Amino acid sequence: MLRIIIRLIVTSFLFHSVLWGDDVKQKIPILSYHRFSDNLNDSMTIKTSEFAKQLAWLRANNYSVISLDSAVRYLAGEIKTIPDKSVVITADDGHKSIYYEMAPLIKQYSIPVTLFIYPSAISNANYSMTWEQLRKLEETKFFRVESHTYWHPNFKHEKKRLSPDDYIKFVDKQIAGSKHVLKEKMGHEVK
Ligand SMILES: [Zn+2]
Repeated sequence: MLRIIIRLIVTSFLFHSVLWGDDVKQKIPILSYHRFSDNLNDSMTIKTSEFAKQLAWLRANNYSVISLDSAVRYLAGEIKTIPDKSVVITADDGHKSIYYEMAPLIKQYSIPVTLFIYPSAISNANYSMTWEQLRKLEETKFFRVESHTYWHPNFKHEKKRLSPDDYIKFVDKQIAGSKHVLKEKMGHEVK
């Protein structure tokens, strides 16, 4: 799931639809962001002013931002209907600009966002948010923390480097270990 979402990084506001099978009536675009800044310029950063324009565009064009959880439940058949023009917003990696640049706009629009966090960086790397900031975002009810991986490895690289047994241990640490820490720190189940 995460791999699919990562592949759907939207840099130029092109909509990508996820194909889930013929029985699903409605496809749901997922807009996945990483970093926000009006000064920095790299392939993972969107200008905050551009992000503001995108949110305004979605609203002007009658899109409804729904939670990733609602989208998954719809695709699993647990929810029968969602708004006609539903879209999901996520942000990967827990960069501090999510707190300072993205969050004020999210609050202004009152829309849900799912954050995929790798816990090794939180309250540790100077570019990341703190646990307290993540908890403050969840208190707004607009943000939900889920698991990315434990740190930010390249699985292909690690698979080449490690023995099969060590690779299995490595994957378990990245997937289960991350969920375990996030559950402890955020105080809720993590997917
Ligand atoms: Zn990432």
